[in-house]
Amino acid sequence: MQFVDSFRHKGLRLRLVEVLKTQGFYNKRLLEAFSNVPRHIFMDSSFLKFAYKDSAFPIGSGQTISQPSTVASQTTLLMIEDNIKVLEIGTGSGYQSAILGEMGVELYTIERQGKLFKKSQKVLTALGYNRIKCFLGDGNKGLPDYAPFDRVLVTAGCRDVPESLLLQLKIGGYMVLPVGSPKQVMTRIKRVGEHDFEKEEYGDCAFVPMLNGISDIK
Ligand code: SAH
Repeated sequence: MQFVDSFRHKGLRLRLVEVLKTQGFYNKRLLEAFSNVPRHIFMDSSFLKFAYKDSAFPIGSGQTISQPSTVASQTTLLMIEDNIKVLEIGTGSGYQSAILGEMGVELYTIERQGKLFKKSQKVLTALGYNRIKCFLGDGNKGLPDYAPFDRVLVTAGCRDVPESLLLQLKIGGYMVLPVGSPKQVMTRIKRVGEHDFEKEEYGDCAFVPMLNGISDIK
């Protein structure tokens, strides 16, 4: 797979980083990740000129690439540390995955739509993110074979908190997810004991819905 990342793209990324700073995102590693990941490569070419605006855009199969400020906010809430194991539900374009990859985590990411799974896997490999492992599957179930995880990030709106994901968290670990229907509230849950969890809420948000099963597998 061939791609072009020009000085113009890099310049546009630096402007996006400035926008994120005005929104209160100051973490150096987070901003470095945003200036390194070529978001335009994760989008359909017809949207290239919008690639570095702070907005969500269609990526096919009825899904969207998350808005940069949403990616920044979910990543901040995750409280990333070096070399932790992270599970992401909803690979989509792979953009949020690449941001996490830049931040030095070992990432496991699941997508339920076959076309998006194939495309994002191809893009992430071409960009050299070899610590990101992509899976086609139903994220509601998580990845029990690879659990426990230090962090779980869900990038689709959940009607309720998926219990099996809670149980794949390490004690002391965090899960960040939008919860509610039809609108959601950004929520962070800490596993404080085998059966004990603490919940914090961070305001209203709107995500595409978390669905069941897999689709588009050919
Ligand atoms: N993080 C993505 C955002 C994608 S939108 C990005 O940066 O581009 C949410 C994604 O969640 C969609 O691709 C959708 O297909 C996926 N999704 C919805 N329900 C899912 C499920 N049960 N398991 C895995 N992925 C799911």
